[in-house]
Amino acid sequence: MQRAYHFLNTVYGYNDFRLNQRDIIESLLQGRDVLALMPTGGGKSLCYQIPALARDGVGIVVSPLIALMQDQVDALQQLGIRAAYLNSTLDFASVQQVERDLLAGTLDMLYVAPERLLSDKMLSLLDRVHETVGVALFAIDEAHCVSQWGHDFRPEYQQLSVLVERYPGVPRIALTATADLRTREEIIQQLRLQQADVFVNSFDRPNIHYAITQGQNARQQLWHFIEANHPQDAGIVYCLSRNKVEDIAAWLCDQERVALAYHAGMDAATRRDHQQRFLREEGVIMVATIAFGMGIDKPDVRFVAHLSLPKSIEAYYQETGRAGRDGLPANAWMAYGLQDVISLRQMMAQSTASEQQKRIEHHKLEAMLGLCEMTACRRQALLEYFGEAAPEPCGNCDNCQHPPEAWEASLAAQKALSCVYRTGQRFGVNYVVDVLLGKDDSRISQFRHDLLTTYGIGKEYSSPEWRNIFRQLIALGYLSVDVDGHGGLRLTDKSRPLLRGEQELHLRKEQKPEKRRKERNRTERADKPRFDRETLPAEAEALWEALRTLRLQLAREQGVPPYVIFHDSTLLHMATERPSTLEAMRGITGVGESKLEKYGQAFLDVVTANLPT
Ligand code: ADP
Ligand code: ZN
Repeated sequence: MQRAYHFLNTVYGYNDFRLNQRDIIESLLQGRDVLALMPTGGGKSLCYQIPALARDGVGIVVSPLIALMQDQVDALQQLGIRAAYLNSTLDFASVQQVERDLLAGTLDMLYVAPERLLSDKMLSLLDRVHETVGVALFAIDEAHCVSQWGHDFRPEYQQLSVLVERYPGVPRIALTATADLRTREEIIQQLRLQQADVFVNSFDRPNIHYAITQGQNARQQLWHFIEANHPQDAGIVYCLSRNKVEDIAAWLCDQERVALAYHAGMDAATRRDHQQRFLREEGVIMVATIAFGMGIDKPDVRFVAHLSLPKSIEAYYQETGRAGRDGLPANAWMAYGLQDVISLRQMMAQSTASEQQKRIEHHKLEAMLGLCEMTACRRQALLEYFGEAAPEPCGNCDNCQHPPEAWEASLAAQKALSCVYRTGQRFGVNYVVDVLLGKDDSRISQFRHDLLTTYGIGKEYSSPEWRNIFRQLIALGYLSVDVDGHGGLRLTDKSRPLLRGEQELHLRKEQKPEKRRKERNRTERADKPRFDRETLPAEAEALWEALRTLRLQLAREQGVPPYVIFHDSTLLHMATERPSTLEAMRGITGVGESKLEKYGQAFLDVVTANLPT
């Protein structure tokens, strides 16, 4: 273990292991198999990288993310680790070079896609490596890909069990950020990890602030949120449709932000270009459908905003989880409205999936809507959904910080429901609201609905207030939406007791969105990084900017993302501490030997040139 600590300090420049890293590494060093479940940003890579360095031979990392292998290898080389990859993007000469290096024992780590690994050619090469220089371990990243129930099933993953037969003494570690039990069991079974040590971490992401608002004008609200909280930061905005993606990206550009679109309808070259710019430039906003994001390990995504409702809490958690991998404060923000609820409900109803599948989808959507409409701590609900106990409210979500008021809405609900009933259960929200408000409208008089007892009985509320009430009634299951696509509302079994006055109903009071409310991020946890943007002293701002400029320049010269040079947390630490010697530079988090040698002096010069006046 001493060697492990040695690598942690000198290669990575970190002082301590996080979460279960220590125990996982210890198991591997003792030659045992491991299954590790850790949230995104938890630090999975270190768990196999350090044992790969500490054990004899080369560590083989199986990953489906071909497009990102180059970046992963670049980052390792910056640390002075001898890493390479083999995948279909390499030309013949490079492949041969890598194969020669492998046999010569000059590689610490090799990244390879599963289909490549399983080819006869690769396996016989590996046999030779195994007999000569040795294989330190197999790391199977994104191990949930082995599961047919999961969202990223890759059939090749199921053949990876061949590794245990062919290389029995070599420890294997399977890693994933997917929490659910069924997937976990399938990983164990398919990869034959029955004897493995299993490490399950908390899936909490304490540095992420959660907020969900009900938006009538979502685009404007998005802008308030970004302007107030992230005027310069990189982030992702998720939208449901391709048109919306294009529209929001263009609009953000009009607001003088660099915003790029990403969706499956774009050609591959443009998509790749946009992804590269998002990774390599600073402060870029990616506006995307959910086609974007798998495997993106950019650590400094400061916010993930949703302008559409995810279909499940799993999807919401995975998408928001792309924020704040570096552990610094980040925001998960969502605006959703009546129309989103109606669209999703209709999509589900029209789905061609089997009855059983539909029931599951329906159940998941209910849980998601429940999360949106709830008045208690959102983090507690999220963690409990994943089967994790969370005894205390978190203090770092919108509901904790601005507890929403509930109001007695039984009478309003009765009016709404009976108006739906009396107009024949075939009209949409807009029409029913007009009837409640007693609007003078030709359609209403044509249907003679101006003669109904419910005509004009709802004048105490405005049209937006009624829409809020209807959204909650639909979300809570008191009204269902017609499947024919016209959005006609119908009563449900659940609505009868309410209509008969046998049940009380409390609804969430809409908070008037304060203009430009700053989402306060209060993470007070032991493992909280000590240096973040919020706590940066004013006199350190100029130095922080200067350090960032140098980082960007170095990154451009080498064609790598800036965070591969140094993370924000490292630069913030530098700006606060102002190391004045190379020895002091060594004490900064994230400065290991290799980076000290490469960049220490350059950054030191910037610190010295920016002394406070
Ligand atoms: P994951 O793959 O689990 O999402 P990563 O392995 O990419 O997470 O790690 C997330 C970030 O945390 C990385 O930038 C990594 O350098 C950093 N990190 C990992 N372990 C530690 C540690 N022990 N101390 C400080 N930072 C760490
Ligand atoms: Zn909370």
